[in-house]
Amino acid sequence: MAAVTRIDLHCHSTASDGTLTPAELVRAGVAAGLDVMAITDHDTTGGWAEAEAARPEGLRLVRGAEPSCRWFGSQPAIPLHLLAYLFDPAEPVLAAELARLREDREQRAEKIVEKLRADGVPITWGEVHGYAAGGSVGRPHIAQALIRAGLVRTTDEAFASSWLGSRYFVPKSDLDVFAAVRAVRAAGGVPVFAHPRATKRGRVVPDALIADLADEGLFGLEADHEDHTPAERAQMRALADRLGLVVTGSSDFHGTHKTVELGAFTTAPEAFEKVVSAATGVPVLG
Ligand code: AMP
Ligand code: FE
Ligand code: FE
Ligand code: ZN
Repeated sequence: MAAVTRIDLHCHSTASDGTLTPAELVRAGVAAGLDVMAITDHDTTGGWAEAEAARPEGLRLVRGAEPSCRWFGSQPAIPLHLLAYLFDPAEPVLAAELARLREDREQRAEKIVEKLRADGVPITWGEVHGYAAGGSVGRPHIAQALIRAGLVRTTDEAFASSWLGSRYFVPKSDLDVFAAVRAVRAAGGVPVFAHPRATKRGRVVPDALIADLADEGLFGLEADHEDHTPAERAQMRALADRLGLVVTGSSDFHGTHKTVELGAFTTAPEAFEKVVSAATGVPVLG
């Protein structure tokens, strides 16, 4: 009987809003029985070097990132996430855009903290910045401060509309999604639409937009994700089939900032091989 290859193409480390360091993440990948794992931190390649250095024998490592994007074709614009795999981190256009996104994340998180403090919430920017520990700062780090202050019990509760979901929401200055797809391709990378039907995060884009992105160079859809119902997964598979896109599945692991386990959803080896074949930026390690 052939061994099952377990491939998880979406995982976060402390380089963004995960709670395992890149070294801990790759070791946890092996412990979870993964054969292939991607490190995909929000708007950064900052975890690559450490993950690379700590990569255990037998684990294949895909270097990637999750650029914050927006579709401006609807009013108001809809935020969305791409997954970018195996791109050249030295390619200047994409690198500059990611740097701009990270800087904006700092300013935005500071604004959210100010809003909370104006209402008497006892957290500080210094504390939140400390939780981010030099990585891309995100709302999960603010959630951590709210938990510490005893105002909510879980990250999920902190994302309720009375907190970070709406009342204390400040938008990020995301990348135009078409420009992002082009920039990832120009850097030799492979763009996949992350959790395209995750309605718990807000409005989702229409199928027609996904078709337009496919024309622009989008390579795949992350159909299998915990934020999708079984029906939504099936819809995304059918759409991918219709548009000639590959289907991926992944955990979107965030350590203790989320409840999902590594390998909770996986990608088929054939789909993974297509992603690898389409990339010219950096190789898979291992
Ligand atoms: P940000 O990138 O700062 O806008 O924060 C959004 C991040 O928080 C996403 O990467 C999610 O993975 C994470 N997150 C954790 N819990 C939730 C939740 N309940 N709703 C939305 N995002 C969440
Ligand atoms: Fe996240
Ligand atoms: Fe995401
Ligand atoms: Zn993610």
